[in-house]
Amino acid sequence: MGKWQQKVSPSRLNLTIRDNKMIYLDNNATTQVDEKVLAEMLPYLKGEYANPSSMYDFAKIPAQALKEARVKVRDFFGAEDEKEIFFTSCGSESANMAIKGSLACNKEKKHIITTKVEHPCVMNTCKSFEKQGYEVDYIGVNSEGVLDLDELKSKIRKDTALVSVMWANNENGVINPVGEIADIVKSRNSETIFYVDGVQAAGKIPMEVKNTKIDMVGISGHKFHAPKGVGALYVNKGCRITPLINGGHQERGLRAGTENVPYIAGMGKAAELAMDNMKFELTEVKRLRDKLEAGILKNVFNSRLNSSAQDRVPNTTNIGFEYVEGELILLHLSDYGICASSGSACTSGSLEPSHVLRAMGIPFTALHGSIRFSLSRFNKESEIDLVIEKMPAIMDKLTKISPFQEELNKLRARR
Ligand code: PLP
Repeated sequence: MGKWQQKVSPSRLNLTIRDNKMIYLDNNATTQVDEKVLAEMLPYLKGEYANPSSMYDFAKIPAQALKEARVKVRDFFGAEDEKEIFFTSCGSESANMAIKGSLACNKEKKHIITTKVEHPCVMNTCKSFEKQGYEVDYIGVNSEGVLDLDELKSKIRKDTALVSVMWANNENGVINPVGEIADIVKSRNSETIFYVDGVQAAGKIPMEVKNTKIDMVGISGHKFHAPKGVGALYVNKGCRITPLINGGHQERGLRAGTENVPYIAGMGKAAELAMDNMKFELTEVKRLRDKLEAGILKNVFNSRLNSSAQDRVPNTTNIGFEYVEGELILLHLSDYGICASSGSACTSGSLEPSHVLRAMGIPFTALHGSIRFSLSRFNKESEIDLVIEKMPAIMDKLTKISPFQEELNKLRARR
C-alpha cells in the first residue's frame, strides 16, 4: 500500500456507508467514467499509441479515431461541420480559447458583457480583461436565477466585442435561452461575438447550434462521463479566433500539441452515449431529481428551494437549509456516504457564500446552508430514498446546535 493510500483510507473506512457504497450526487462537479467510454479509450493507451499525424500505417487507426470522435462531437453540438470542432483539455481552456482568442482578433473594441453567475473560468477571464482596460458589464438574475434579458439587451453597444453567457448554471441548473440571446446580440450588433459556456448543458439537454447565431460553445468531457483532461470548443465557421497555444498544425492551427487520442476517443464515445441517453436524462433523471426535491422540502422544516425556475437542467436541485452551516450538512451527509456540494466545486472548501446564490438574493439565513444535489443516469431510486430518509435526522441534529433557536422555533411553528 502506498503512502498516500495509507493516509487517505482510514477516514474513508470510518464512513458508515450502507452496503459499503457511496451515493454520488455531485455530478455537476464531475462524473464517473462510463465503462463503455473506458473500453473505447483503452486501445489507444495500449497498442495503438502512434502519433495520429505520422505518415506510416501504424498511425492510421489513431488518426481514424480522432476523425470519428470529431464527427460524434459535431453531432453532439448539433453543428453542421466537423471542421467547427476543436479539442481542448477542459471547459476552462475552451472558455479561455474562445474569449481571449476572439478578443485578440478585435482589439479596437473594448467592451464585454457577461453575467453575475458565470463559472470562474469565464468570470475571472473577463476580470483579467477589466484589468487591461476593458469595460465589463455583469448582467444580473432574478431570485430564481433567471437572467435579465432586458438588461442584457440595453447593454449591447457599438464597441461590444464579446457577450459570454452560460447555457446552464452549475449551481442552480437554470437554463439560459442561448438561441434567443444570440438573436438579441446579433440584432443589436452583428459584429459582436457570442460565446456560450456549455459545460453544464452537455449531456443534460440537447445542444443544437446549427440554426442559431451562437459563435462558440465550450464543453468539458468529465461532466458527461468522459475522463478529466479533455474538452471541446465549437467555433462557427464564420467566427475568427487566434490560438492560445502556438506550435504545430494540430486542430487546424488553433490549438497546438499532439492530440490526446485516448481521451478524445473517450469523449467522442461519451458524446454518443449522452445522445443515446438524452430521453432517459430528461425523464427518469428528472423524475428522481423531482422526487428528491419534493421529499426533502416535505420532510425538512427549515428547507427552501433556491430555484424552481421552469427551465432547469433535469439533474440539478439547490436547496437551502435555514440557520445551519452547509459544511456541517456535507460532513453529516458524508457519514452516510452521500456526496453533495455546498457551491461550485471550485469554491467549496472556502467559507465564502456562493456568488450565484448571492446574485439571486438568497436570504442570508439560507445562504450558508445551501446544498446542491446533482444526479446522473447512474443514480438509483433506492439512493434517492435513502437521502430523503436521512435528511430529517441530520437536520434535527444540526438545528439543535444552531445558535438561532428562536428563529428556528418560529420556522417550525409556521410549517
Ligand atoms: N463552466 C462551468 C459552468 C462549470 O461548471 C465548470 C466546472 O465546474 C467549468 C466551466 C470548468 O470546466 P473544467 O473543470 O473542465 O475546466
